[in-house]
Amino acid sequence: MRVTTLGTGSPIPDPQRAGPSTLVQTGTANLLVDAGRGVLMRLLAAGVLPAMLDAVLLTHLHSDHITDLNDIVTTHWVMSREPTPLHVYGPARTSEVVGGILAMLAPDIGYRLAHHDDLTWPPTVEVHEVSPPSRLTIGDASVVVGVTDHRPVEPSVGYRIEHDGRAIVVAGDGVPCAGLDELCAGADVYVQTVIRADLVRAIPNIRLHDIVEYHSTIEQAARTAARARVSTFVATHFVPPMVADLEEQWRAAAGAHFSGNLVLADDLSTIEVP
Ligand SMILES: [Zn+2]
Ligand SMILES: [Zn+2]
Repeated sequence: MRVTTLGTGSPIPDPQRAGPSTLVQTGTANLLVDAGRGVLMRLLAAGVLPAMLDAVLLTHLHSDHITDLNDIVTTHWVMSREPTPLHVYGPARTSEVVGGILAMLAPDIGYRLAHHDDLTWPPTVEVHEVSPPSRLTIGDASVVVGVTDHRPVEPSVGYRIEHDGRAIVVAGDGVPCAGLDELCAGADVYVQTVIRADLVRAIPNIRLHDIVEYHSTIEQAARTAARARVSTFVATHFVPPMVADLEEQWRAAAGAHFSGNLVLADDLSTIEVP
C-alpha cells in the first residue's frame, strides 16, 4: 500500500500547499480522501487521473475538504468514454452537497452536451452516505468507517483502509476520542490534521482562536499515535501553515509523546507500506 499527501494546507491560503486531500493506493484501488483546493493538480502529479479513482471518501463537509470536488466531478465526466459513475462516500448530507455541485455545474453540463456529439450522458455521481461504525468493500480494499469528534461539525468520520494485512488511517480533522483510538489501533500509518495551539493563540485574530477547540494539537495527535501504537504518524493540514524555521519545534512537540516514525508532510509526500 501507499499513501500520498496530495494537499497539506488548510483553509488559510498557502502558495506552496494545496488544500486537504490524501491518496491511498492498495494493490489495485485508488482511494481519494477529501478534495481540497488544487486536488486535481496534485492527483495528476501522483500519476492518477480522476477516471482511475475507485472512490472519493469525504471525512466531513467543511469547505476546505470539498472545495475542488466539482473539478473531480467535471474532469471525471468529460474524460469518460462511456457513462461511468463516480462513487463518493461521505457522512450524512453528502447527497445534498453533491446535488448542489451538480446544480452549480448545470450550465456547463448543458454547454458540453450541446457541443460534443459523442458526449451524450451527463455526469453521474453515486453518493453513498456512510454511518459509522461500518465497513465497506471498495475494490481490493476493506474500509472501516469510524466516528471522529470534530464538533460542532457533525457527523464527521475517519477511514481505516485495509489491504493485505496492512492499515492506513486517514482521520481528517478533530480532537482525540474513543472512536479515533479504535480506528487507529495497530495501524501502520495514521494521517491527522494538526495545529499548534500556542501559535494559533498568538495570532491577533479571535476568529482563528476558535479552531483550537476542534482540531488535535500536534501533542494530542502524537499521543493518539502512541496509544494506538501506529508505526508512522503523518502530520498534515498544519495550522498555522508550516514554515521551515519552525519545523524542529513541531517535530520536538510530537517527539515528546511519540517515538515512532514521524512525517511532517509536504504536498506529494509518499509513504510506502510494504
Ligand atoms: Zn474541518
Ligand atoms: Zn480542515
